[in-house]
Amino acid sequence: MKWSEDRVALLRELWLDGKSAAQIAQTLGGATRNSVMGKVHRLKLGPRTTTHRPVARPARTPARRSAPVQRLAPRLPVLSAEELEAPIAHLNPRVFAGGKVATVLTLTTAMCKFPIGDPSEDSFAFCGRTACHRGYCIHHARVVFKAS
Ligand SMILES: [Zn+2]
Repeated sequence: MKWSEDRVALLRELWLDGKSAAQIAQTLGGATRNSVMGKVHRLKLGPRTTTHRPVARPARTPARRSAPVQRLAPRLPVLSAEELEAPIAHLNPRVFAGGKVATVLTLTTAMCKFPIGDPSEDSFAFCGRTACHRGYCIHHARVVFKAS
């Protein structure tokens, strides 16, 4: 099929009217949707301006489709009201293998970070028990979060 000047002019007009490539092909006769699209592309007519837009779909929640939420720490159990009200034990730092205790250098996010003792003393250490509530063991979580 040859693109005469008349056909190109009609194509251009129909395209700018917002007709689809298939409609234009039908109107021109002897053209296919693909040949119309190819000519539109070569003429650099740009995207078709439609007057009838498809019904707007509700916006997707970006959280579902974007990158997964990054968690800094695993989700930890939350203390119940009873656990928060129970008497508070005064604990010594947990002693690890070799008689070691949790220090600034050995404390991990999985350990209770409650400080025990005077920081200026050599005996100062962190609790070191398994952290189960926002960085504290069950006993120290009660100390830290009871007032709030
Ligand atoms: Zn603790």
